Amino acid sequence: MHPAGTGGGRGYEPVIGLEVHAQLASSSKMFCGCAARGGAPPNSRTCPTCLGLPGALPVVNARCVDLGVLVALALGCTVAERSVFARKHYFYPDLPKGYQITQFDAPLARDGAVSWVSDGGRRTVRVTRVHLEEDAGKSFHAGFPDSASSAYVDFNRSGVPLVEIVTGPDLSDPADAAEFVRRLRAVLVAIGASEAIMEDGGLRCDANVSLRRAGGRAPGARTEIKNLNSFRALQRALEYEIARQTAALDAGGAIQPDTLGWDEGSGRTVPMRAKEQSDDYRYFPEPDLPPLVVAAGRIERLRASLPELPEQRRERLAARYGLGADDAAALAATPRTAAYFEAAAAACGDAAAACAWMRGELARRLSEAGSTLDEAAVAPDALGRLIRMASEGAVSASAAKAILGRMVETGREPEEIAAADALLQISDAGAIDALVAATLARFPEQVRQYRQGKRVIAGFLVGQVMQASGGRANPALADRLVRARLDRADQ
Ligand SMILES: [Zn+2]
Repeated sequence: MHPAGTGGGRGYEPVIGLEVHAQLASSSKMFCGCAARGGAPPNSRTCPTCLGLPGALPVVNARCVDLGVLVALALGCTVAERSVFARKHYFYPDLPKGYQITQFDAPLARDGAVSWVSDGGRRTVRVTRVHLEEDAGKSFHAGFPDSASSAYVDFNRSGVPLVEIVTGPDLSDPADAAEFVRRLRAVLVAIGASEAIMEDGGLRCDANVSLRRAGGRAPGARTEIKNLNSFRALQRALEYEIARQTAALDAGGAIQPDTLGWDEGSGRTVPMRAKEQSDDYRYFPEPDLPPLVVAAGRIERLRASLPELPEQRRERLAARYGLGADDAAALAATPRTAAYFEAAAAACGDAAAACAWMRGELARRLSEAGSTLDEAAVAPDALGRLIRMASEGAVSASAAKAILGRMVETGREPEEIAAADALLQISDAGAIDALVAATLARFPEQVRQYRQGKRVIAGFLVGQVMQASGGRANPALADRLVRARLDRADQ
């Protein structure tokens, strides 16, 4: 049982469901050929169809259907071979047709889930439906000299393709709700279905929230918070709304089923209008479009084209390389990071070392250089060879770190840097032993003290050998050879 985290502590359990709208990565709109990307002068990307002029007919954008199917499949949904577009009626100045074309009782897909591991536990949020729809235009009520008396509207967004993803009422914690949207966003980006840029409105979230008494069955009336366009806004709005509903119920009041907006400035939800029920929208099948048919073969072709998803990648790296949860999550963060790690691990034959170097020294050096792995001049194969040079004793651990620093700066190969900077470790026993003999000859008094029982002085002599080698002697070998000579009674 989850406590009502921010409320009056009377044991209410929040019940949260989300509706996420993501702009599909199509260059043209859902039902016409107008460009769907932003950044153009207002009302320059319009035609009779997306302006809703009489007689203009919609035509389904096949690319958007493919992208919608990919989203549904990536979320584990069952895709309907036959779905139906419907008109959702409401009046708003940025909706010139007086209705939005969406899908209602026969959506593109149903019954999937988003699942992830956090704090050692697996979270699963059901996706009840995925459907296609068009966006409305955009109204501007502020920012113009005459905004006090006039509003402006830009129809460039009218008809932009959206996929709507609806969850079950499976969330109870605002932080989890934000994490769900992060995970969902990562999937949308990974499969190339949406750029999902929240700051541009390319990913927007509506949140339904209600409270039920701990142990009770039915939740109370729910409110809907519209158009949350950042993870932070989503989490804060839910926290506020849960606290507000808790206080209202504690005071003996009732919750009105309102549609709310989130005012970032004041940190409060604000009523927009009474919440519509689906009856209010007078849904009916879109008469200008036939049912949307997606043949089984097309669905399977799209399924086969799906790349590895972030959560699959994390699980595969953890299982294949024996990585801990933290390491697996970090290295699976992007396809590029994972591919880099796998190539480096293959080159050095030691996945644990590749992981430690990537997350440790390489990350630190890149961060110091103001660079990222994507821009790194260090090829994964070169990192792997450097790791191998260190593990085989060709260079010391500290020299390996210095070499990596030079690799990040110059993009040169580790062998080349080691040779040019005289960093190759001396592991030739004969060469080191000659240095040991010369060193002991220089310090007869210390040798005598050692043989009289002052064993600790061996460390001083090893230090002298290291110095004589310019720091390049293999330290373990130097130590062994110094002791061997000291312990030989005839010296
Ligand atoms: Zn158009």
